[in-house]
Amino acid sequence: MTRSPSWIEDGSRHIWLPYTQMKTAAPPLPVVRTSGTRIELADGRSLVDGIASWWTACHGYNHPHIADAIRAQLEVMPHVMFGGLTHEPALHLAQRLAGLLGPGLDRVFFTESGSVAVEVAMKMAMQYWLNRGERGRSRFLVFKGSYHGDTFGTMAVCDPEDGMHALFKGLLAAHDVAALPVDDASMVALDAHLAQHADKLAGILVEPLVQGAGGMLMHSPVVLQRLRTLADRHGLLLIFDEIFTGFGRTGSLFAFEQAGVKPDIITLSKALTGGTLPLAATVASERVFDAFLSDNPGHALMHGPTFMGNALACAAAHASLDLFEREPRLDQAAAIGAALREGLAPCKDLAWVKDVRTLGAIGVVELTRIDDMNRLKQRLIDQGVWVRPFGRIVYLTPALTMAPDDLERLILAVNTVVAAGPP
Ligand SMILES: *Cc1c(COP(=O)(O)O)cnc(C)c1O
Repeated sequence: MTRSPSWIEDGSRHIWLPYTQMKTAAPPLPVVRTSGTRIELADGRSLVDGIASWWTACHGYNHPHIADAIRAQLEVMPHVMFGGLTHEPALHLAQRLAGLLGPGLDRVFFTESGSVAVEVAMKMAMQYWLNRGERGRSRFLVFKGSYHGDTFGTMAVCDPEDGMHALFKGLLAAHDVAALPVDDASMVALDAHLAQHADKLAGILVEPLVQGAGGMLMHSPVVLQRLRTLADRHGLLLIFDEIFTGFGRTGSLFAFEQAGVKPDIITLSKALTGGTLPLAATVASERVFDAFLSDNPGHALMHGPTFMGNALACAAAHASLDLFEREPRLDQAAAIGAALREGLAPCKDLAWVKDVRTLGAIGVVELTRIDDMNRLKQRLIDQGVWVRPFGRIVYLTPALTMAPDDLERLILAVNTVVAAGPP
């Protein structure tokens, strides 16, 4: 056996890992390189990545077109502050995103993470009302199963009971939590709630079509049409958090396209730079933007991350959008979706399985229970795949470019591990 490199042991004493019980969790796998849809480990193993690095690497790893764009930008200007200065990569990207989103989503505010993009969306919505002289609209209507980030503002708009921040319940800002209007009865109930409480609300915040980190919970596009109707009827801003669903994951470039309705504000991040550099965008309608135009400097949007509009990240995003333009990503998403639907279907017959569902390039096997998460994860790694089950689900969100042989290997691994029963 070759000795493992010393940086693993030396550094592990000093690192604090994400979402990890550091007392009991299995140590993380040391990665030395990535390529295509593979993750190569320090010990020489190669894993098929089933989740595209937390839903970011939509074109696979190390795509030469993105790498070239970053390299070229690095030579010219890696970063320059965005306060009082501007540059072509950011302005052109704003124009390009507005073009892709279409009329009604016109003004782009850049940040560097999804959580901050949601914070900015919430700040925009609250200040929209303040600037119009309406105080007291500090709450958002959010939904059971929601996840919108890890910062304090966004923890408060995650599902307070079943979400990952439940420990903080009662310590965060208060918001209204409702069931998604999936049928007439819940629509009527929500309408009645809004008739009473809308004057305390700044807006409605939802992950369209799939609530991701809340458990890959899917709903019909009709739900989004109902929310648009309710937002209009009660005079509220509608915010779609497309940080997970954006850029082809649900089968269309953006999830809202499937519902034929637009939000007033949208948040994007995860796959925005094709999984290379941190970047996020909050995009608002001209109506929202106009509420900040005033002779009063206090009506400006008081937000400005140090690395706002980072030129390297904008160059990466351009290259990623080039690939969506030049290559048949949505067809690939559809093909992956069909393979997942067919390949995961046999799981439906297993006693340990509660539900199997797919949408776009997302495949989910929901189990009745997971007793030993560490062992389940190890079984998947032993099958040569990188999949991160959480809650009660094992799910796949592969790169949209994944070749059929790697996809087959992933599907086989999930089938094998699920068929073996609870660990
Ligand atoms: C991942 C995610 C976020 C948070 O993004 P970070 O970049 O991790 O801060 C917010 N909303 C949704 C829907 C997400 O999937």
